Amino acid sequence: MENELILDFTKCSNIKNCESLLTDGLLGDPIFPSEDSEKHGNAICVIPNSEEELVSRLKQTHSGTVMRWKNSPLREINKADKKGLFCEWFNYFNHIDEIVDINRSKNVRGGKKLSNFYVATRSDFGPELKKQVPIEKNLCDYHQIMYWGVFEPEATTNPTTNIRNKKLVGYIRAFRLNDFVWYNMIIGHGSYLKFGVMHKMHTDLLKHYFKSPNPPKYIAYGPANIEKNQWKRKALFENSKVHFKALDKYYKEFEESYRKRFKKDISTFIELGEYSRAEILIRILRFYPRRSLKSKLTLQTKRILKNNFRN
Ligand SMILES: [Zn+2]
Repeated sequence: MENELILDFTKCSNIKNCESLLTDGLLGDPIFPSEDSEKHGNAICVIPNSEEELVSRLKQTHSGTVMRWKNSPLREINKADKKGLFCEWFNYFNHIDEIVDINRSKNVRGGKKLSNFYVATRSDFGPELKKQVPIEKNLCDYHQIMYWGVFEPEATTNPTTNIRNKKLVGYIRAFRLNDFVWYNMIIGHGSYLKFGVMHKMHTDLLKHYFKSPNPPKYIAYGPANIEKNQWKRKALFENSKVHFKALDKYYKEFEESYRKRFKKDISTFIELGEYSRAEILIRILRFYPRRSLKSKLTLQTKRILKNNFRN
């Protein structure tokens, strides 16, 4: 499958905002499928049009035969449903503690040790706000970064609001670019993986999309490696090539000089209620941590040694 995608700003209410979200959202992020995808490909899930189509596709194996119940993603979803888990969009800033907890709940994922990007200290994930903040309403339908979560309802209720407390047990960071949604993070709490949280949150998001007024067409999640990744196969991903026209102009490298400005902008965005924009910058700073004194010294030593050898 090959996909030709284009950026389109004709339906945006504020093109400038959307363009700047793209510039920041793609800043220095090396995994976005553009030119590389033409060579190596990406795992793409074509979003179904209806519940019937979704269920019928989930019942099939990749080779088109009927999937046995014991291997079925529907069985996984059933486990999550039995536990009462439910999915919804959430404001990142209300659930940072749980995000940190989810990220740390397993040392190894997909055979790899987790990088500092995931297991950094709590403060690297953003400030602790004094009160709960609402879901951001004025985001563009076609260009946005939002968090989709799977929650466990808790027995306790919040005494001020009388609303039942809930615990975040998995999340997807969904970056929408017109017809295309990029999962650049999808992660479940280690203790809840056995309850099917990964399939639950993915299929519930597919449902949410096809029921929405302007649904996207594709979801991309990482490289085209479905032969090696059973989860992706069951979650309806296929190997595909993506060419995203005119996206390259939004690619920028991170520069050390941005750090100070970003820190200031994070506070401003939070004050303005532009939470998504603030989260983007927090994430970039975690992606590019300031070099520790130790690594600076190591670099310096290496340089001195190299120069000495050269002489
Ligand atoms: Zn837009």
